[in-house]
Amino acid sequence: MASNPIKLGIVGVGKIVRDQHLPALAKDSNYKLVAAASRHGKVDSIPNYPSIEAMLAAEPGLEAVSLCMPPQFRHDAARAALEAKKHVFLEKPPGATVSEVEGLKNLARENGVSLFASWHSRYAPAVEAARAFLASARIETAAIIWKEDVRRWHPNQEWIWEPGGFGVFDPGINALSIATYILPPMFITSAVLDFPENRASPVAAHVVFRTSAGVPVTMELDWLQTGPQSWDIVAETDKGRMELSSGGAKLAIDGRPLQDEPEAEYPMLYRRFAEIVRAGISDVDLAPLQHVADAFMLGKRNVVEAFFD
Ligand code: NAP
Repeated sequence: MASNPIKLGIVGVGKIVRDQHLPALAKDSNYKLVAAASRHGKVDSIPNYPSIEAMLAAEPGLEAVSLCMPPQFRHDAARAALEAKKHVFLEKPPGATVSEVEGLKNLARENGVSLFASWHSRYAPAVEAARAFLASARIETAAIIWKEDVRRWHPNQEWIWEPGGFGVFDPGINALSIATYILPPMFITSAVLDFPENRASPVAAHVVFRTSAGVPVTMELDWLQTGPQSWDIVAETDKGRMELSSGGAKLAIDGRPLQDEPEAEYPMLYRRFAEIVRAGISDVDLAPLQHVADAFMLGKRNVVEAFFD
């Protein structure tokens, strides 16, 4: 049984730890942040270790860890933590492959601890209302439009362009985490991925899905969008046109706003993690990751102009 507060360590101290994890943890009485592990990053006022192995060895009282390094480097850290019987919070995407995360699920079960594959966009304020609306409607078509400026949101992040960094699917998987929650089950029927000639990961993607009911769903991902940014899911239904915009923060039906609230994604993620730790269960939905894997498997590779930061 986890203590109250849960003694947590944080691993991979970089942008998302500073932007979201530390502020959310500072306000959450479910947790006491007791240590951090990172090669360069540091968190003030707590012990800092150069690796997760050093942290696990020096902090036997730790009960849980949040793993916030890029996905390619997360599996071994997760394995070490689960084998040490710590509950594990995985940043999104939960891994670089589907099967490595399946393995972690089994390892969590064998060690009697919880594994959380966090999908922060699912906790955007209007997502539940969009899901309820779509559940009550007949969907005719749907479109996912996720267009942002990589230079603005990911400056100098090289891992994101490497194999396993997902390229434009790093933000695109956020869209998929919402789409797989609010739309019926679907599968990819065609995809074209645009790879800059000097990069290992795509800068744009054009994907077509079909739901189990035969409804077409398109997805346009673009990482070179300057000016206004688009993080929208639109559905034409028998009850009107649903627009879920601003990454899931705003909902409108036929242009009539239904929801527009400030986001609290990371506080809600940490609330959910505490809930599953205390309930002794895991929460690992791999549907968004599976779609990304399928896009890479089925997608036609289109080589485009080189990308430089
Ligand atoms: P980041 O700042 O580039 O990386 C986080 C930290 O991971 C780095 O500061 C680094 O810390 C550590 N790291 C980097 N390469 C590593 C390696 N080879 N081995 C071990 N550790 C390594 O990235 P981020 O933006 O925080 O993103 C991290 C994860 O959070 C990604 O999966 C991303 O999709 C997700 N996320 C990011 C955002 C965002 O807005 N940036 C939003 C939501 C989710 P040390 O050098 O100190 O070890």
